[in-house]
Amino acid sequence: MTTGSLLILAGDGIGPEVMAEVRKIIDWYGAKRDLSFDVSEGLVGGCSYDAHGTPLTDETMARAQEVDAVLLGAVGGPAYDNLDFSVKPERGLLRLRKEMDLYSNLRPAQCFDALADFSSLKKDVVAGLDIMIVRELTSGIYFGEPRGIIKEGNERVGINTQRYTESEIARVARSAFELARRRGNKVCSMEKANVMESGILWRDVVTEVHAAEYADVELSHMYADAGAMQLCRWPKQFDVIVTDNLFGDLLSDAAAMLTGSLGMLPSASLGAPMENGRPKALYEPVHGSAPDIAGQGKANPIACVLSFAMALRYSFDLGAEADRLEAAVEKVLADGVRTADLLGQEGVTPVSTSQMGDAIVAALDASL
Ligand code: NAD
Repeated sequence: MTTGSLLILAGDGIGPEVMAEVRKIIDWYGAKRDLSFDVSEGLVGGCSYDAHGTPLTDETMARAQEVDAVLLGAVGGPAYDNLDFSVKPERGLLRLRKEMDLYSNLRPAQCFDALADFSSLKKDVVAGLDIMIVRELTSGIYFGEPRGIIKEGNERVGINTQRYTESEIARVARSAFELARRRGNKVCSMEKANVMESGILWRDVVTEVHAAEYADVELSHMYADAGAMQLCRWPKQFDVIVTDNLFGDLLSDAAAMLTGSLGMLPSASLGAPMENGRPKALYEPVHGSAPDIAGQGKANPIACVLSFAMALRYSFDLGAEADRLEAAVEKVLADGVRTADLLGQEGVTPVSTSQMGDAIVAALDASL
């Protein structure tokens, strides 16, 4: 019996390079842990445009809707910068997110001890940090109507609308509470209820969902601006933070940078449960296609590897195996293995993308 189905969309630039290392890890789980995934592959972004004239074909979209998890590398690159907006590589990614209705975006900020010096904050503020930001991804001010730039008298007016329905708030709140139960059992909800009606509704609905379904989870509320300050002051006070699309965009980027390199940051976007109970899911590193280093074996594959760890945990309910993979990454870093983006100390020679993947596989072997 297979553990589940995976669609791999490696994409452009360093996407295929980092994904090749994840393939080694998937193979390792098959060989050593008897976890066999039904893996299919497809094209997304510029490579799909080159082959089919579109950044995502209907066939690939349909396959993404069927599988238990989609694992994506990165899309884009200078060769596609001048394409029409409708066929730009990013449109493929946006179509996936939209049609799979991935409303809950999970952005962990985790600081591996070996990399604590990389943070711009003091070591004791970030060492051992492990928080999760849950950002609402399919509604709010980026989608609300009316929007546009209109003329009013002699000047132009730019308009965007923050709009949330109760059900949109409730479903992302549930996603955050469910996550908290698997982690530190604490949720902090952030909005601006002091100045925004949508914030008042957000706070009310999160409170109602909590009281009715998740009273065992500790819930607190914070204004998003105060939350930004607290994230920089003492981020370890948080476990799960749930917030809207706009605040989540800002807060998750700020929190991610607490931990150092872009090459280390995974993410997951989850939607409603499918018939088999698993959520619709897309896992991807936060970084882009890094054209400046593509094809040179310099890319750090850890963000993509940790995205697969998230898939193990959230799509396949294999939390212990996800822990094993994260511990393998931690061990490799503690042993001083570094890709070029993680260099800081003099005298350390960087390893290639492939060597980093091999080191993680060796650490997995050592974990048995
Ligand atoms: P980027 O994330 O690709 O690169 C920013 C910097 O970080 C570069 O110097 C790059 O070398 C470095 N970097 C990124 N990932 C790394 C890794 N794994 N290992 C080592 N170094 C790494 O962002 P950008 O340069 O602004 O964008 C490049 C292209 O990627 C653009 O076409 C952009 O549209 C696209 N993009 C795609 C995604 C996505 O697929 N989700 C996200 C962001 C940007």
